Amino acid sequence: MDNEANAAEWVRRDEAVIWHGFTQMSTFGTNAPIIVERAEGRELIDVDGRRYLDAVSSIWMMTLGHRVPELDDAVRDQLDRIAHSTMLGHGNVATIEFAEALAPRLPVDDAHLLFASDGAAAVEQALKIAFQFWVNQGVTDRTTFLAFGGAYHGDTVGSISLGAGGFGTDLFDPLRFEVLRAPGFDDPACVEVACKLIAAHHERLAAVIVEPLVQGAAGIHVRPAHEFAALEAACRAHDVLLICDEVAVGFGRTGTLFASDRCGIRPDLMTVGKGITGGYLPMSATAASRRVFDAFLGADLGPATLYHGHSYAGNALAAAVARRHLQLLDEWNVLANVEARAAELDRALGDAVAPLPQVREVRQQGLMVGVELDPPREGMRWGRKVSAACVEQGVLIRPLGDVVVAVPMLTTTPDDVERIVGTIAGAITLAAR
Ligand SMILES: *Cc1c(COP(=O)(O)O)cnc(C)c1O
Repeated sequence: MDNEANAAEWVRRDEAVIWHGFTQMSTFGTNAPIIVERAEGRELIDVDGRRYLDAVSSIWMMTLGHRVPELDDAVRDQLDRIAHSTMLGHGNVATIEFAEALAPRLPVDDAHLLFASDGAAAVEQALKIAFQFWVNQGVTDRTTFLAFGGAYHGDTVGSISLGAGGFGTDLFDPLRFEVLRAPGFDDPACVEVACKLIAAHHERLAAVIVEPLVQGAAGIHVRPAHEFAALEAACRAHDVLLICDEVAVGFGRTGTLFASDRCGIRPDLMTVGKGITGGYLPMSATAASRRVFDAFLGADLGPATLYHGHSYAGNALAAAVARRHLQLLDEWNVLANVEARAAELDRALGDAVAPLPQVREVRQQGLMVGVELDPPREGMRWGRKVSAACVEQGVLIRPLGDVVVAVPMLTTTPDDVERIVGTIAGAITLAAR
């Protein structure tokens, strides 16, 4: 009884001062929000001591777990040196050391890294760089981008322009700039159509932007890795820049360090975020190839300069934890665990979830899973109900419409896999009653 009062009191305090993203605040309090106090490993612990297996990795951010001693130590060690200093015209040891460790691992030629704090900002940087890349070379008519249907690249005005409609973005149509739109990953011909569009419109295209392998926010839609080589080839043939947005798929989520690695492609620009610090601190980056970087070299304070930079970019605490995180991915052989658990997930979902009559399709790549439900009519909010039933059972799941999404951490165990799949299967049966 006391406990219930405790949770309710925290929700009341929350509502009084906080505006939650992607959340209708009039119903926030009645949708049983979890108020987290602390965490252990892959579990969140709320203000009443209840535990939840974090099966969405705090929306695709956490990789190794919460409170990893090695990562905690990396932050503490860096605190004894410095937390932050500006990257505008000056440098920082922690940021240099991280960039030196990351650059050779990126599938980008001789990568230079422009840091920011959020994925959307990394995308915004990539699109400005791609645009200015051409202007710096005297080409002024390459002002258009090609993006895919279903794409999600973040919530700033530039990134919602590149993204497809939905998620309430249509409202901002008067502010969104026009892009050339290929079909979404749910259309098997999408890459082929994109290649034709590139051939037809290359003279006005600055760049193509794609989420390689998996469109996450679209509801976990997957294309086979080999298809992306054709996209890269079309970009090369017509001299259009290729931007790979790996904010969701980067840092091991799909089983390779980067999805572009599995696809065998080397983009001109790549955006990373989410898992970059293991989910510890806000950091994102735009990686540019040598060719792109060189197009911005010129006179001091001259017009070739990229006039863009965020206040917290290259934060030293974030860089220190990101560097240790990259080491741990190797030291713990984390990618092998991702592949093994992904295979188990695939089998378990095939056995327990895919055959359910309420399920239209199960989609998966690595540790990204989308279970598309098949409600008999619109407006039944099955996605939300199934997710709420999972949370009741202590497994934190969040839907995208009627797609139940699970994105477990990279250190997930066989027991976790069984629990996540069993809970989802039980919740689907329950919610459909
Ligand atoms: C989450 C996401 C973003 C935006 O990242 P934020 O850190 O939320 O701004 C961009 N692109 C993709 C593919 C994402 O999944």
